[in-house]
Amino acid sequence: MARYDIVIIGGAIVGSAVAYYLRREGFTGSVALIEKDPTFAHSATTLSLASIRQQFSIPENIRLSTFTLGLFRRLKEEFGEDADITFRETGYLILAGEAGLPILRANHAVQAAEGADIVIEDAAALTRRFPWLSVEGIAAGAFGRSGEGSFDAHALLALFRKALRGKVDFVTATVARIERAGSRVTAVTLDNGERLETGTVVNAAGPAAGKVAAFARLELPVEPRKRNVFVFEARDRIDDLPLLVDPGGVYVRREGSVYITGGAEAEEGEGPADPADFEPDWALFEEVIWPALATRIPAFEAIKMSRAWAGHYDYNTLDQNAVIGPHPEVSNLLFANGFSGHGLQQAPAVGRAIAELVVHGGYRTIDCSAFGYERIAERRPFRELNVI
Ligand SMILES: Cc1cc2nc3c(=O)[nH]c(=O)nc-3n(C[C@H](O)[C@H](O)[C@H](O)COP(=O)(O)OP(=O)(O)OC[C@H]3O[C@@H](n4cnc5c(N)ncnc54)[C@H](O)[C@@H]3O)c2cc1C
Repeated sequence: MARYDIVIIGGAIVGSAVAYYLRREGFTGSVALIEKDPTFAHSATTLSLASIRQQFSIPENIRLSTFTLGLFRRLKEEFGEDADITFRETGYLILAGEAGLPILRANHAVQAAEGADIVIEDAAALTRRFPWLSVEGIAAGAFGRSGEGSFDAHALLALFRKALRGKVDFVTATVARIERAGSRVTAVTLDNGERLETGTVVNAAGPAAGKVAAFARLELPVEPRKRNVFVFEARDRIDDLPLLVDPGGVYVRREGSVYITGGAEAEEGEGPADPADFEPDWALFEEVIWPALATRIPAFEAIKMSRAWAGHYDYNTLDQNAVIGPHPEVSNLLFANGFSGHGLQQAPAVGRAIAELVVHGGYRTIDCSAFGYERIAERRPFRELNVI
């Protein structure tokens, strides 16, 4: 029977970032990074839109993304000269009608106070900046002039995992059980029957995080929610298209010579996804997305959808925000979950935060206590308003 000081459940971006920063912070104990599917075919990380933004409604989320932005800007310093995640700072453009304007302005004030490079422009200024945009029904838009854009999620994950070679044990297996003795977790059992004793468990299981918490008889309101992404081609190319978010929620961005779009799901009344269901909801493109795109960008009246995929958000049903840190009563179980659509860009910062907790006994770089489990126990939402 093996024993590890730390067992991390889930080896995609969050689990790998936690392991990476544990070593970076000088943790010398043994670490097992357990992943059931090292091809990551169904992980949120690889099925995501791979974008980073500063446009959040709460300062803590901006700080997490800003940390990651800093990493992207000194990527070669951190991972070596060959490191490249093709980060393109094309910005987000979040549009609002009259009804959404007060929230757009309030969010902008928070972002400006955090030093984010976001401008609010009225409809006339937007038309000047983006002549291809129809501002019908639009009062204003918030545009990220720098610090926002897209990158290669596979490449980022590969950088972390390559840097971990020889430094942690990569275990390919499914965690099927967590053993608990009173207020401590003591071991995990794998689907191959192997039992690993441990001093600390980190839950980095993404959309399966609620299920993994339940193994330790703990409640975590994180469930999979299906999100569809469609790829299309357009006759007219829009080179300066930011990641545009329409007031109705539909988003679009450029990816090389094609475009990717989504955001058509109605959250109202939505329940958990079947964890095995990755079939795109094809009708959403014709019924919701295309009409919205053609209204907002007339050049997109003539487009051809070429393929689609579906992934699962790690959706926190309480407040669509991360849950970071220990369970108050089972303090050697650490959460890094519930990112609800913004976990890829937050993973490096959260990995660092968890490592600081383990190594130094408290947060040093970014205070993540507002994301603590206490609010879950008290049913006290710490809500993020910009869930894209
Ligand atoms: C369509 C879509 C678009 C998105 N766009 C963005 C975006 O633009 N920007 C952004 O920041 N975020 C985005 N996200 C969210 C982001 O992808 C996630 O928040 C982030 O990837 C979570 O990382 P993770 O490592 O926790 O989860 P995952 O990537 O899902 O990894 C969890 C891993 O745990 C493994 N696992 C689960 N249970 C077990 C078990 N019992 N035993 C062993 N292994 C297990 C899984 O196999 C999986 O590999 C998007 C998500 C989706 C679905």
